Amino acid sequence: MLVDSHTHLLRLEISPEDAVGEAAEAGVGIVVNIGTQIEDSRRGAELAVRLPNVYSAAGIHPHNAGTHTSADLEALAELAESPGIVSLGEVGLDYYRSEWSKEVQRALFEEAISLANDARLPLVVHSRQAFADTMACLGSARVPVVLHCFEGGDREVREATERDYYVGLAGNITYKNNETARVLRLINPDRLLVETDAPYLSPQPLRGTKNAPKNVVHTAAFVAERLGYEDEEFAALTTRNARNFYGLPPEV
Ligand SMILES: [Zn+2]
Repeated sequence: MLVDSHTHLLRLEISPEDAVGEAAEAGVGIVVNIGTQIEDSRRGAELAVRLPNVYSAAGIHPHNAGTHTSADLEALAELAESPGIVSLGEVGLDYYRSEWSKEVQRALFEEAISLANDARLPLVVHSRQAFADTMACLGSARVPVVLHCFEGGDREVREATERDYYVGLAGNITYKNNETARVLRLINPDRLLVETDAPYLSPQPLRGTKNAPKNVVHTAAFVAERLGYEDEEFAALTTRNARNFYGLPPEV
């Protein structure tokens, strides 16, 4: 069984129920839904309560950094204590695409890190072309961290590994000339997670179509092959990692 450790169930072409059902049929037994602002984080918490084997993270994505208010931060703190919420995220820095200044993004990210520390929730971090600043901000994190949709080469992998961070691999790892694909062996196997980031980043051979949680099987197969694991062995490894990171109940 696989876990899709990062997906956006509320943005898919199909309903969350259908997406989770199709995922289960494909062997993806657990789906972690990720929030990007207060509204979808609230709905995510409800989904996690309603649907078995679905868990949620509450967060404010750096793309929404400039529009958040102090009331949003209070709402986030409240969500952090809500049933169904297992993590704070996604939060972080995006110097590639976010329209908000670095200062605004960093201020929100720092607030989110301190919230995660207070709530003792693991952090799901989005970092795009902002590795050094992301790592600097995360210096104050006292909870487990995953660098989701990891991008980077030798140096970034080594730095993440030194800090004992989890590394979330999405469909882009399967694309030609992906830098991280060449340094997979440097990642501590006990810190590897696989994810779809659906509806984005469909893995090969589905690139160009809308992504869905079931497609994490392609990403997992690609990474397993590169690292010399049998599919089942790799599924067991990454599922255990996801349970450890998110603090999910053990398999019954
Ligand atoms: Zn995401």
